[in-house]
Amino acid sequence: MIRRLSVLLSIAAVPFVVWWLVLPKLPDDPLCEAPAKRADRRWKEHVDSGLCLYWPDGMALGAARDSLRRVVATAREDSAEFMGVRDTAPPIRMVLVHSRDELRRITGREAWGTTYPDGMVFLVFDGRVNTLGIRHEVMHALNRTLWPPGGNESWIVEGLGVVGGGHCGGYSPRAVAAFLLEQGMLPSLESLEASFSALDEIVGHLTAAAFVQFTRAEYGAGGLERLWVGGLGALAGTEADRQSLKDPWFRYLQGVPMGDRLPSLDVIRSGCRADGESNAA
Ligand SMILES: [Zn+2]
Repeated sequence: MIRRLSVLLSIAAVPFVVWWLVLPKLPDDPLCEAPAKRADRRWKEHVDSGLCLYWPDGMALGAARDSLRRVVATAREDSAEFMGVRDTAPPIRMVLVHSRDELRRITGREAWGTTYPDGMVFLVFDGRVNTLGIRHEVMHALNRTLWPPGGNESWIVEGLGVVGGGHCGGYSPRAVAAFLLEQGMLPSLESLEASFSALDEIVGHLTAAAFVQFTRAEYGAGGLERLWVGGLGALAGTEADRQSLKDPWFRYLQGVPMGDRLPSLDVIRSGCRADGESNAA
């Protein structure tokens, strides 16, 4: 009976062992305060004042570690400046994984990178430093940690992420949205709010990013924070004011010099997708 029981128990343990081997255990030290205390030794780590970087044993990071650290440090400065706040956030916790498959297995999300509401970042590292993707996720992380609770509308969250990432194919989101307006392809603010995920990915993300740039330029850092917390309603104040957002929004786009507007959407499609930026969640 005891032998039978032990056989049964070992069979029952198989799925757990497989799960343990396949699914890396995540770092459990939320603020990197005492990484040495963690029992899990299968993650390596780099900790400094701006970044807690974790990568699985066996991942060859090499010189990329310093590059990652520098990209994160610059992204933190740029994101905080755009937000109009002082960067008082704790180190960004960034977990590197080998592939999109692994990221999906751990987070359940289909992406090159993703940031949790508590600011923890997961990112695919395939041997190259994905500057655009890292900057995108750092913006998400700082939005979550330096602003009041908000970020309930994905178009605003992703618009900020795209701005954080930087120019797409050499064009700013504003320049892309100016082109879309000119071509009669610019999504309405209503469609950004109501059906962002149904829009063409590049068109939706870059229009949202351009609106975020517009908000920063027209309403300052305070306006940007209001947009984050309460969406268009909070930015405008009243329903009448909400309608009146459209004129200055269009004027902002029409102000882009003709020479700065992109010639066609094809120019940016490959550039953004190659860096995984448009798929970052
Ligand atoms: Zn994102």
